[in-house]
Amino acid sequence: MRDGFEQRLRAELDGFRRDGVYKELLYVDSPQGPRVRMEGHGEVVVLSSNNYLGLCQVPEVVQAGHQALDRFGAGTASVRFICGTFTVHRMLEAACARLVGTDASLSFVSCWNANEALPATLLGEEDIVISDQLNHASIIDGIRLAKVITRCQTAVYRHADLQDLDTRLAGARDRRVRMVITDGVFSMEGAIAPLPDLAALCRKHQAVLVVDDSHATGVLGPTGRGTAEHFGMVGQVDIITSTLGKALGGAAGGFVAGSAATCDYLTQRARPQLFSNALPPTVAASSLASIQYLEAHPELVQRLRANAAYFREQLLASGFRPLPGETPIIPVIVGETAQAIALSRELLREGVFVTGFGYPVVPQGQARIRCQISAAHSREDLDQALDAIRRVGRKLGLT
Ligand SMILES: *Cc1c(COP(=O)(O)O)cnc(C)c1O
Repeated sequence: MRDGFEQRLRAELDGFRRDGVYKELLYVDSPQGPRVRMEGHGEVVVLSSNNYLGLCQVPEVVQAGHQALDRFGAGTASVRFICGTFTVHRMLEAACARLVGTDASLSFVSCWNANEALPATLLGEEDIVISDQLNHASIIDGIRLAKVITRCQTAVYRHADLQDLDTRLAGARDRRVRMVITDGVFSMEGAIAPLPDLAALCRKHQAVLVVDDSHATGVLGPTGRGTAEHFGMVGQVDIITSTLGKALGGAAGGFVAGSAATCDYLTQRARPQLFSNALPPTVAASSLASIQYLEAHPELVQRLRANAAYFREQLLASGFRPLPGETPIIPVIVGETAQAIALSRELLREGVFVTGFGYPVVPQGQARIRCQISAAHSREDLDQALDAIRRVGRKLGLT
């Protein structure tokens, strides 16, 4: 019985290798800076990190983690309502709410966890949740879970298609709650959700709007407050979820931000809050320090934007086809999956770490490498990466 189980796993793993979808792990032996030391490859320029502001190795952020370790110890040792909530979690939650412009927030061990908690806790059998087709996997799974737990209705609208969403909202008039969920920035394209139109539609149909700003917090808007700030709409999104594992220090953790009642209800009823430990205090303290650092250094966001604009321009000038956009996610379409994989592999040999994505993660024929730019990249880092991309691109016949 058990032999058969292991055999099946091994056979499937062999299949992954044959199909070229097996992920070889690359080991890093340094902080996640603009360059890392990678086992077997030496120092490489990183173009595939979510460390958008370079905060994960800023001394204030690292120091805050050290101090919290000394003050609070390694862990929380139980769930919050049993063992008590650390004061650093309260400070972190106040900072998250202030940053994204809501009354309150509640932290989770990851944004994955936050997205799993949200619909399953807040919705019931009389309600419906309507989700953008390209939403993150954690939103999709959170909705699946909600459907099983609460028997709420679910629906998917075509990516950023307002007409389709309007129709679905109109068809859900009889529902007690209509909840619309979208990514703020879609991670494979770097596209920004059409927030003003989404908010207007939600007002028209009296729907609750939820935005997952994981790739937008610290990134979009003049001071990095996210998609809402980008559109001058801070305070106009009902519920925001986001991660502390990307721009905000890059360690781990996520949060739900919204009204005091929303966060209190999740505190009372969200199963991940009731049955799973809170963030380690070290991580909470580093995340808090990241938010404070961002608030004191809005110029980081400007540098991120300037770096991304430079990189995009240079790619275009070199004959590549980056997807147009305004975010630091810059996908370069190369066509077939094998080419994206080859490009990524050759670039690593040339000292540039950037991941290739192919079908089925992205549509057939639109395989790509996804470059992610950071404020921590120097002009020299970017130029070195661009030189390598030009060289390898010519070699592979892409330009
Ligand atoms: C990365 C990401 C998540 C998951 O964040 P974690 O905190 O690492 O769990 C959730 N949603 C979106 C849109 C993301 O991009």
